Amino acid sequence: MKDSCFSQSLIQSARVMVVGCGALGNEVLKNLVLMGVEHIVAVDFDVVEMGNLSRSVLFTEADAEARRLKVDVVAERLVAMNPAMEVWTVCGDIAYDVGLGLVRQMDVVIGCVDSRWARYCINRLCMRAGIPWVDGGIDGLEGTARVFMPGKNCYACNLGPEGLKDLARRMPCSGIIRRQEQAGSAPTTSIVASVIGAVQVQEALKLIHREELEAGRLTSLCGKMLYYDGEHLTTRIADFAAYDDDCAEHEPWTPVKPCRVMPTDSVAEALRKLSQELETQDVTLCLTRDCYVDYVARRDNDERTTVMCPGRAVEEVTARDKTLQGVPLSGLYQHEYRHVDRSFPYQELTLAELGLPPHDVLHVSTGAGDYYFEMEEA
Ligand SMILES: [Zn+2]
Repeated sequence: MKDSCFSQSLIQSARVMVVGCGALGNEVLKNLVLMGVEHIVAVDFDVVEMGNLSRSVLFTEADAEARRLKVDVVAERLVAMNPAMEVWTVCGDIAYDVGLGLVRQMDVVIGCVDSRWARYCINRLCMRAGIPWVDGGIDGLEGTARVFMPGKNCYACNLGPEGLKDLARRMPCSGIIRRQEQAGSAPTTSIVASVIGAVQVQEALKLIHREELEAGRLTSLCGKMLYYDGEHLTTRIADFAAYDDDCAEHEPWTPVKPCRVMPTDSVAEALRKLSQELETQDVTLCLTRDCYVDYVARRDNDERTTVMCPGRAVEEVTARDKTLQGVPLSGLYQHEYRHVDRSFPYQELTLAELGLPPHDVLHVSTGAGDYYFEMEEA
């Protein structure tokens, strides 16, 4: 038997991002290390819990007792498997906390998430960055794997207009959908995670062998969906190839230029640097992940408080602020800012406070067109 159709040197130098370190993520990470991948970015916002242990090879009871972050635990275990491993971790939400610049450095992204919203966010980042991604999903004894390649097929296009509309309606409360979707999914087993996680890694490794793929020496799952039914032991492959030329979700952000703006810069400083770069005062920063909001809370005695935060944090901030307890929602007047220019009222806020993650790419609009700039590290 042939040793492998894969090149060990390509695998060793590949950079792979794994989004989600649950049951599927554990299997995918373990297989990546066994196959010889040495550069991994792991993304997850959660801590290890007892319920994870029956289907997660990398977690122990001690991790659950200590409620350790999943990303910290997997990084430690992967290095224990191969001391040459380099693991970067992002403890956060794929929707908001992963900079596009980080995705641009990857060869492939593997999605091990359990909601349509998270898949939609991975797809948007990958399409903007021009990076292929492999999706996996498990539910009960069933599982699916899909491959998406910029220019070929797109998750959002496959959702169709109705699916997208449905998602758009839910977007502001993604945390709530996430909880609902998790509650609604059937408990799964380590076996289905093993099957789907293995397929995902196999497909991801194919994607880093671009020449072999283009020459037809490897066959990818790109444009198709593998469906596995463990109960009746059947698999089938269906088309999943939709790609609508008018879809804004898969628009590539190109070219991306480096710039001297940092997440620690104030809005005023960032606009000044961008103006200098683009040689125009007419510079607008477009917030494409999340809006920035200010709320004016008015109590019965007409006392007013202003609450400012990225849109996603509103619920949390108003719940935490004791002075807002008992203020009816109707007493909160909200402004949403999706564009930041010299008329933005909070020029002293930093870009990090606006909600932009490290390594992010700024979408800058001027009268002459749109530009993309990757931020420097702080
Ligand atoms: Zn699309």
